[in-house]
Amino acid sequence: MTLDAVVVGSGPNGLAAAVALAQEGHAVQVLEGYDEIGGGTRTAELTEPGLLHDVCSAIHPFALASPYLSSLPLADHGLVWKHPEVDLVHPLDDGTAGVMHQRLSQTAIGLGADGRRWLQTFQPLADHLDDLAQDVLGPIVRWPDHPLLMASFGLRAGLPATLLARRFSTEQAKALFLGCAAHLYRPLSGLGTAAVGSMLIAAGHAHGWPVAEGGSRAITDALASLLRSLGGTIETGVTVRSLADLPPARAALFDTTPDAFARIAGDRLPTRRARAYRRWRYGPGAYKLDLAVRGGIPWTNPDARRAGTVHLGGSAAETAAAEAAVVRGRMPERPFVLVGQQYLADPTRSAGDLHPVWLYAHVPHGYDGDATDAVLDQVERFAPGFRDTVVATHVTTPAGYASYNPNYVGGDIAGGANDLRQLVLRPSLQQDPYDAGLPGMFLCSSATPPGAGVHGMCGYRAAQRALAYLS
Ligand SMILES: Cc1cc2nc3c(=O)[nH]c(=O)nc-3n(C[C@H](O)[C@H](O)[C@H](O)COP(=O)(O)OP(=O)(O)OC[C@H]3O[C@@H](n4cnc5c(N)ncnc54)[C@H](O)[C@@H]3O)c2cc1C
Repeated sequence: MTLDAVVVGSGPNGLAAAVALAQEGHAVQVLEGYDEIGGGTRTAELTEPGLLHDVCSAIHPFALASPYLSSLPLADHGLVWKHPEVDLVHPLDDGTAGVMHQRLSQTAIGLGADGRRWLQTFQPLADHLDDLAQDVLGPIVRWPDHPLLMASFGLRAGLPATLLARRFSTEQAKALFLGCAAHLYRPLSGLGTAAVGSMLIAAGHAHGWPVAEGGSRAITDALASLLRSLGGTIETGVTVRSLADLPPARAALFDTTPDAFARIAGDRLPTRRARAYRRWRYGPGAYKLDLAVRGGIPWTNPDARRAGTVHLGGSAAETAAAEAAVVRGRMPERPFVLVGQQYLADPTRSAGDLHPVWLYAHVPHGYDGDATDAVLDQVERFAPGFRDTVVATHVTTPAGYASYNPNYVGGDIAGGANDLRQLVLRPSLQQDPYDAGLPGMFLCSSATPPGAGVHGMCGYRAAQRALAYLS
């Protein structure tokens, strides 16, 4: 039987693309190279029996903000979102912290002298988040659906994050903002680096920073269950190395990076496009520790004990310096570390008083040193006595991520560097970013707009191109 479409890769974008095609009545098959579906959205017992660790993605503000994922009946397929009491804490050495609650007013009160500035900066974005997401979670180079809103967002988002941080006078607010901006994995003094932090904060104030009950794999399982209910099929353990490996299908969508697609397409890809895809650049890596912690982390700051996410970067200046170093290929003594305490919102992940803790540091691309002590030291700095609570440790190095998922080259979890060129022209200078350069073939991974994160919008938008081709 000839399929209407085959999707290579079952990350959130591959599954979102498959669902969007199946919703329109098309016969779709997903092929996944790994022995389990989900790409960057899987959960496993990495340390002790019963402890559920998110292998990659953990916190999902963009999933709730996603116009596509939020339109799907994923709750009917078992997905339950859980919210921590406090969304985000960025502790400082003096025991104080920048604290972000879902409620803007509560955040503003906590930020004291900067409360009014925080409201002025993020309230307009949070109030119009759903309209804004329609434009921001897509190609940048196009006429927006909400031009005035995009213009006012662009005025601030286009700034260097370090410049926008100067709007604030307290170290708590500056660090809180720059920690969010650091999710971009770029030097924070660069143009456009205020964008991702601003969106993460606005999405948090609009919808919160939730976790999926039972682990992030619940997002994968819900998408897969929805796909199967629409007649789609999934096969695991099938790595596509060339176009000859594909079953007969009218269209093919690739949840792969552009250079990987160029290798799969081989000589069939026009030379100019092949050259552009082979030039795809990768950014810094992730060095991750999954810990089994007895009783939880003894943070000095009391709000951090209730927070789903804790950013460990110290002051705003220190956070910016660490990010600049890793992009330059230098391992900082004190790296920027993201800590996930998902079990606080979702106790089903723990076993008694033994809790799974997720933390990773930003490290240089392909970093092959041992960063374990540097990461643990950052936690100990803000939670003295923490090391004594650690019962078991599982380490994933950048090389470990690269072998776990072919999209994570050199440990780059964004599937490609977020430098200015690749942010604007993702995946290359081409009219339609999802068109893979061969008839009926489309790229749908996070190497296409809007980039990394669990929002499914790359997959959804690529599927719209495939639907037009199939019609
Ligand atoms: C440590 C870490 C922490 C993260 N934290 C968060 C977070 O908290 N929140 C968030 O929103 N995002 C987070 N992310 C990012 C998020 O996981 C990714 O942006 C997202 O998974 C990208 O989705 P994707 O579908 O484009 O690709 P992927 O999820 O990478 O999926 C691609 C899939 O395609 C398969 N594949 C590739 N090539 C082939 C081939 N040739 N043949 C067959 N199969 C193939 C791969 O095996 C993989 O399963 C994190 C990632 C990591 C690694």
